[in-house]
Amino acid sequence: MAKIGINISTGSLQKEEMIVGIDLGTTNSLVAIIHPETGKPIALKEHNTSSLVPSIVHFGQNNVTVGEQAKQFLITEPQHTIFSVKRLMGKSYNDIKYNASFFTYKVIDDDTERLVKIQVGDKFYSPIELSSFILKELKERAEHILKTSIKKAVITVPAYFNDSQRQATRDAGKLAGIDVLRIINEPTAASLAYGLGIQKNEEKIIAVYDLGGGTFDVSILRIVNGIFEVLSTNGDTYLGGDDFDQAIVGFWLQQHKIVQEEYIQNKELVQRFRLTAETAKKHLSAHEKFSTDLDGKNITISKSEFEQLIQPFVIRSIECCKTALKDAALDKTDINEIIMVGGSTRVPLIKDSVSDFFGKRVHIELDPDEVVALGAAVQADILAGNNKDFLLLDVTPLSLGIETMGGLMDVLIPRNSKIPTKIARQYTTQKDGQASIRISVYQGERDLVKDNRKLGEFNFSGIPGMPAGLPKVEVSFFINADGILIIKTKELRSGIEQSIEVKPQYGLTDEEVEKMLLDSITHAENDIKVRAVTEAKTEARQIIDTTENFVQKNREYMKEEEINSVGIAIDELKEVMFTDDKDTIQKKIGILNDISRPFAERVMDAAVSFAMKGKKV
Ligand code: ADP
Ligand code: MG
Repeated sequence: MAKIGINISTGSLQKEEMIVGIDLGTTNSLVAIIHPETGKPIALKEHNTSSLVPSIVHFGQNNVTVGEQAKQFLITEPQHTIFSVKRLMGKSYNDIKYNASFFTYKVIDDDTERLVKIQVGDKFYSPIELSSFILKELKERAEHILKTSIKKAVITVPAYFNDSQRQATRDAGKLAGIDVLRIINEPTAASLAYGLGIQKNEEKIIAVYDLGGGTFDVSILRIVNGIFEVLSTNGDTYLGGDDFDQAIVGFWLQQHKIVQEEYIQNKELVQRFRLTAETAKKHLSAHEKFSTDLDGKNITISKSEFEQLIQPFVIRSIECCKTALKDAALDKTDINEIIMVGGSTRVPLIKDSVSDFFGKRVHIELDPDEVVALGAAVQADILAGNNKDFLLLDVTPLSLGIETMGGLMDVLIPRNSKIPTKIARQYTTQKDGQASIRISVYQGERDLVKDNRKLGEFNFSGIPGMPAGLPKVEVSFFINADGILIIKTKELRSGIEQSIEVKPQYGLTDEEVEKMLLDSITHAENDIKVRAVTEAKTEARQIIDTTENFVQKNREYMKEEEINSVGIAIDELKEVMFTDDKDTIQKKIGILNDISRPFAERVMDAAVSFAMKGKKV
């Protein structure tokens, strides 16, 4: 079988351009890339610092800071220090009113149905703007480390994010000067970072246990041939490492008999206790005991004391896992892989409890607080076209089809078809003895191929000589799990065949896809008219060809006046054929048909009886 590679690298993406992966987290955010030499994903960091940037924005007198610096003001300047803004993305005040006390800064509550605004001093900010401050900081850091400008990114969101939350995330990217090529689910990213689902012909059920700073999510995914499907999600939007810190603070207050009310008055002290508690917690992930001096007091906590404190949270998270399994109609033994995500899964008790529950080892080989960003980088690399063997797609964003007579688009695979998918359709020749057919492949929603995007074309040749309309040329479109379109053409009578491959989505950004869809709606009315006229003209040309052919071959069986009247009808049709008057064209086709039908039938009968006579019965 002949294979012809088609170069469709007309897209807007350039290979040299760096596309980064961004985990825009509730507590921490970070950027990852594929290392140009090793080909492995790595999180970006400056020398001797963490890759994590706290998702906190502080508004000072004359400047805005993001990250570790902003975190210092969390307790001392609550009205000017914005944390957990991810919780507000795409939300109205009504959505969050029961948790309003969680936000120590001012969330505006007068326009309860509209998207929330946050007031800082005399200025108002949307969660999108606040997120864009974080993204801008990440972009600048990455540019500083990589010494190149960053314009494109893949950003992750929780699997349960709805359309408006995803859109808000996209908009935040745009505001930060980033072209967001794709929004992907955090658990999907985590799986990609572990290379799960990249293999073809692989079917896996994966549980992703994500315990971050303030939120807990568990997702059950199924990966079949590179397609990720979210079977269920569960979690608790107010459960995370911050609760562990609070529990430790409570423990110390008791230890030193500090009165809660007095303690709360002293913002500086609260801040120091909180930050020390976090340090202690992290320390206990690797040691048996923590002790330090704070405010003249010796404070301590042991690993087992800590584990006792967090036991209720562990139980709550396991309950969520049970519900997620139930919703996915699965048993815990159905789970093939368990991935640990989020800084809080570093706590040994968490790892062990999850492992015990599923009865399996859990994945912790990759840094749990980097794994989502690493996966986003893997996806970015795929989109950049560097990872040619793999294209992550689950549905076709645009219709795929071929050009038929008159430049019309004949759709074989409609948009939004689930992949992999396959369809075949039959076509035939227009002329007697025609030996080849040109197959032009297009992507788009418009009726005329000239308005769509050409993916490639090829000549299907070697069709054995046959009268027009007799060859049966089957064109089949197959999109495999990698999003590669394989086109096969086969003449069914002779069995000759040919196939080609194209990558339908390569080089198209989501925005371009959206524009193509929008155009198809705007032009729909005109397109329908043009299609009708084109179809009428095509039909006219075909009937003229067939009739002229017929008359030429069968003159001897026809009367002189019949030949004349057919000639007149053909001329009249030819006269109107080049106008755009569909109705008149169709009327003239009707007249020609009416005139030629009686003698056509008579001649056919004669031909049949002639054939019969020739046969020995
Ligand atoms: P998010 O996804 O919500 O942005 P992360 O995945 O960055 O959050 O997790 C942040 C949480 O992980 C914080 O509560 C932090 O204290 C906790 N954490 C980070 N490292 C450790 C560690 N070594 N041991 C225990 N907890 C940790
Ligand atoms: Mg996270």
